[in-house]
Amino acid sequence: MKRIGVLTSGGDAPGMNAAIRAVVRKGIFHDIEVYGVIGGYAGLMKGKIEKLELGSVGDIIHRGGTFLYSARSEEFKTKEGQQKGIEQLKKFGIDGLVVIGGDGSYRGAKALTEQGFPCVGVPGTIDNDIPGTEFTIGFDTALNTVIDAIDKIRDTASSHERTFVVEVMGRNAGDIALWAGLAGGAETILIPEDHYDMTDIANRLKKGHERGKKHSIIVVAEGVVSGYEFAKQLKEETDFDTRVTVLGHVQRGGSPTAFDRVLASRLGARAVELLIEGKGGRAVGMEKNQLVDYDIIEALGKEHTLDMNLYKLSQELSI
Ligand code: ADP
Repeated sequence: MKRIGVLTSGGDAPGMNAAIRAVVRKGIFHDIEVYGVIGGYAGLMKGKIEKLELGSVGDIIHRGGTFLYSARSEEFKTKEGQQKGIEQLKKFGIDGLVVIGGDGSYRGAKALTEQGFPCVGVPGTIDNDIPGTEFTIGFDTALNTVIDAIDKIRDTASSHERTFVVEVMGRNAGDIALWAGLAGGAETILIPEDHYDMTDIANRLKKGHERGKKHSIIVVAEGVVSGYEFAKQLKEETDFDTRVTVLGHVQRGGSPTAFDRVLASRLGARAVELLIEGKGGRAVGMEKNQLVDYDIIEALGKEHTLDMNLYKLSQELSI
């Protein structure tokens, strides 16, 4: 392996820059040339590829987003699109590719690997929904953004004795909602991994009010129901003054937390090692604070699982 490429794809996540930096520096440390693909798989098919030097990744470890840009491409889902990408990589003499992204991006990496081009996946998404790793790059930062918002909402909620519904991201995973709800002291957390009972929620809110609670915060994962729809349903059961906040894309931005920077550095560097060891077709992850790697094809066949013990605890602590 003399020359490798790196790209970021799909939804951006804080910490992707730190991961790119790790790939570039680790590669150069091992006398490997590193090329950056601009704009994900769409840029790859067009040959938007440039050499990255040590200095190319200076001053980016603390920046959100991805300086290589990200994109979504329908064309790349076709065999023809993937062949175009491989041709471009070959044109630049690149022997292996690090793909930083979510499960869609992993499918692209899997497709390239199956066609003989070795790729290694690095989990970069705020949703924490990649199987095989306890944490994905960006999750911790998004979580801290949500908690910051919940703390602020709590101030206004208690001043006006209101019920606040906070809708958070996470696609089909409840991780952001669960962790933010637990850390933010929410009364109720709605996750896609469990059904919700509106009568039960309303009764608990009423009980809380009866014992003098000034406000209630309900965290709703976007994969369950929209915050506005939930508030409408709640209104039918109670007469509480309810407000809705949809946090949206603020959850994707911001400077990555120390945790995400360290995670990204470790995972990015490990991805380069795997390519050097000739282990294409793998994905890297972190389990019990240890680096792990596993077959990317196997990973895509598995489901991400939420920590249900944590969910149970959140319910026990919000009685
Ligand atoms: P994420 O990686 O955040 O899950 P997407 O699901 O949008 O984001 O995937 C990012 C890109 O990965 C897509 O736009 C597409 O180019 C590529 N991709 C997704 N699914 C496949 C697939 N089945 N085969 C090849 N490429 C894919």
